[in-house]
Amino acid sequence: MAKTTITLRQTLTCQPNHHEWFATNQALFNRVVCFYFDVINAHENLLQLSNKEALTALEKLTHTTKETPDPIMPLQALAPDIPALFRRAAINAALGSARSFFSHLYRWRAQKTKAEARGKKYKARPPVPPRTWNKSVPLYAGMWKERTAETTMVKIWNGTCWNWVKVRTQGRDVAEGYELGSPSLVCKGATWRLHTPLEKTFKGPAKIAEQVTDPDTKLCSVDLNFGENLAVCVIQTAKGTPLASTFLKGGKELNGFRKQQLGKIARNRNKTGLIAEGEQDNAALWCKIRDRDEDLAHQISVRIIQFAQQWGATILVFEHLGNLKPEKGKYSRRGNSKRAFWMKGRIFAYSKYKAYNAGILTSRVSPRNTSRECARCHAPVARYRQGQPAQGYTVGAPLVSCSACSMKGNADRNAALVVGQRLITRHQKKPSTPHAGHERDA
Ligand SMILES: [Zn+2]
Repeated sequence: MAKTTITLRQTLTCQPNHHEWFATNQALFNRVVCFYFDVINAHENLLQLSNKEALTALEKLTHTTKETPDPIMPLQALAPDIPALFRRAAINAALGSARSFFSHLYRWRAQKTKAEARGKKYKARPPVPPRTWNKSVPLYAGMWKERTAETTMVKIWNGTCWNWVKVRTQGRDVAEGYELGSPSLVCKGATWRLHTPLEKTFKGPAKIAEQVTDPDTKLCSVDLNFGENLAVCVIQTAKGTPLASTFLKGGKELNGFRKQQLGKIARNRNKTGLIAEGEQDNAALWCKIRDRDEDLAHQISVRIIQFAQQWGATILVFEHLGNLKPEKGKYSRRGNSKRAFWMKGRIFAYSKYKAYNAGILTSRVSPRNTSRECARCHAPVARYRQGQPAQGYTVGAPLVSCSACSMKGNADRNAALVVGQRLITRHQKKPSTPHAGHERDA
């Protein structure tokens, strides 16, 4: 059985003073997390234990009970009457942060010893524990109750006592077939939200190697680009019959937008001179670029999955990304090509999990010469622009032509077909001869 988790995000509407309470509640939670992080820091060997064992050990060290009336580091000194489930949520959060911090620290120490053993100076700085804590508060069972589609009761600390507060939730309701996890109270700008992980178990799809033994299995292969066609998707069967293709556009507009913003940043930098080290300059402009990239990567990945589903494809194929080769030129040009490269990675990552949630498996193949090969006969192709003679190889040109089998077509579509074929040949010892025939464009 396979498992998928999505997050339900609901905005809370409540009285203004509740916002203050939520903030107070979160501040207390982070004080408790910080406290436990320090306790773990003082008892490093706790990290050898499993989370469950570590939790018990930490409670013994800090929690006042009949058996341990005088714990070594009492939590009560920090705040009285903390509910057990609030405490446990904080302990688990602290354990997570501590595990991450110490694993970085151990790696750093190991690298340092290794370098020094070779007689070299090790210059990298050691990792530092978090200086500030700003974690959202997870509400374990017992900290919330009476959840309906519109309202939920949550137990929070308002600065003087623990209170049950009724909050109204806006936004989507829980989809069918999902199981509710522990929600979290998340502060986003001026609003508070309830984030609930939703889990679903389903019968996982068969392995790719098994699937391609059926000649009618459909796969959707994707060629990601820097140009106007951000993604070109092709559906073909495991036999190699192409069925449909689609061009997901928007690259030109995005590139133009990015270049404009990066140009603004460069001009601002020129005006202000040196940039303070470790400080983000032009934060608003960077944010704008990031949001736009993020947004489009999600849109494109959604459309890839929709197209695959529409044709009943059960496998999604991409190329490996290869290395970043930044373009030369102005700051805006270099920066733009770098971000376009990252964008490819994002589209892949988003498509992968979205595909998985839809029961589609994702794989990657070698990107070597996918654009230079004929999808029909595998001979080298000529790549050229409209109006030019069909010969030579112009990188980025939109058309291809194969002199061996006289195939003519779109270069990106040809590349996407080759990507899909690579996966099929990888899994089938005797590849059938694929023939790029006629197809309908979606
Ligand atoms: Zn050919």
